[in-house]
Amino acid sequence: MKIKRFQSLTFKLTVWYIVILGTIVILAGLFLHQGIKDGLMNDLDTALVAITDEAHERWRTRGVSWEEAIEKAEERYASYEPFIQVVEISEGEDKKVENVIRSVRIPEGAFMLETRTYIRADRTDIDSYIFRTVEEDRLSSYPLRIFLFPVWGPLILQVGVSLEATAAQLNRLFFIMILTGSIIMLLASVGGSFIINRALHPVKSVVKTAEGITAEDLSLRIDLKNRKDEIGALVETFNSMIARLEKSINKIRQFSGDVSHELRTPLTIIRGEIEVLLRKDRPKEEYVTTLNSVLEESHRMEELIDGLLFLSRVEAMDRSKGREIVDLDEVLNAVIKFRSPTASNKNISIDAKIKPVQLKGNRELLERMTANIIDNAIRYSNSGDHIEIELEKEKNTAKLQIRDTGIGIPEKSIPLIFDRFYVVDPSRSKETGGAGLGLSIVKWIAEYHNAEIKVDSKVNRGTNFIVTFPLD
Ligand code: ADP
Repeated sequence: MKIKRFQSLTFKLTVWYIVILGTIVILAGLFLHQGIKDGLMNDLDTALVAITDEAHERWRTRGVSWEEAIEKAEERYASYEPFIQVVEISEGEDKKVENVIRSVRIPEGAFMLETRTYIRADRTDIDSYIFRTVEEDRLSSYPLRIFLFPVWGPLILQVGVSLEATAAQLNRLFFIMILTGSIIMLLASVGGSFIINRALHPVKSVVKTAEGITAEDLSLRIDLKNRKDEIGALVETFNSMIARLEKSINKIRQFSGDVSHELRTPLTIIRGEIEVLLRKDRPKEEYVTTLNSVLEESHRMEELIDGLLFLSRVEAMDRSKGREIVDLDEVLNAVIKFRSPTASNKNISIDAKIKPVQLKGNRELLERMTANIIDNAIRYSNSGDHIEIELEKEKNTAKLQIRDTGIGIPEKSIPLIFDRFYVVDPSRSKETGGAGLGLSIVKWIAEYHNAEIKVDSKVNRGTNFIVTFPLD
């Protein structure tokens, strides 16, 4: 699948990253700016107090006139370019500004505040030290920071400094912050998208490999060199899923190959025999023999197809359903009764010791399972052999044993007999008519009932099938 750039995880993560980082940078900038602004204003207020002190002290201790004190203080703090004046308020009930002694730098009428502000300053409590920021076009195109200091009685010392220098400093700071903020954002975006790209790179290789995997070629695996993170876990899961798929597809392939082969063999035999038969006229007995052989082969095919149908049906079955309480002893007795004539015909005796056992299971499947094992015992035993069937409870299990004194199974074949189409001796199986599906069905049914199955066998001595069912 082609992922659009704007829909890609890389893009989305980068955008999120930039938005979050941008917000943090802007907030940090705002706090920093405000902090520095407060600091500068504090410095300015301290300077205002110092200038006021200077003028006041000169006037008070050196006995100079206000004009001279103002001039000297302005000279001393020339770098601040301060504006200084002394406002005199009338005494008595109806207070108003009576006189102003101003610095030569202040034009007449400028730098004046409202009368009630001066009246407020004309008190001795702490509130009367007033700081203000005011606009005064005639003195500065920037606002003025002003300090009012009640000297005594009706005199108020008023000192002001333009905020121009502070504003310039703040502007410079703002510019530097924008610049560094932009550089940080740029580097962070480039770096961030690089890191995100790198982190997500394995996902791209997962997608690429996954695209290369088809039902025809499931051998591809994603190589991520032992990553221990989430992506490593994803890849591992993915790889093991593909491995399982490969295994089951191979199994299916093998199975369909085997099925065609198994069906083909009897068909080839049938066709061959009929062709030979038709080449010339033959005596009646030969037709009967061939037809019997054809009949036998078609029985084998029927059995095979029957087994395959059964397996495909039960494999599609919901394993959690279809269970009921079954009397296993009844099932077993019925199967034995039905098989007894075949055994007698072959001169094989069956001895059954069956105790009552109830378990939760599927009657039809249990019938099939016991029938298959008993059929085998009859099939792979010879005249005069003996079969023992035993069912008993053991702790919380039911133990079923089907023993025969027949031909036995070679040790190396024992692990294979439950595989589909596996027959120990094909020539013998042909004779006796097995398709190699019986025990794979038995195994499936045992698994369905959570039963354990064990085989003890010795060639020419006999075989014992032990099935242990859990009883809960
Ligand atoms: P088949 O249809 O050939 O009997 P099964 O799956 O039932 O196939 O059994 C697989 C093979 O296991 C048989 O071909 C047979 O050789 C061997 N086998 C099964 N049961 C017995 C037994 N009781 N005694 C000897 N051999 C057995």
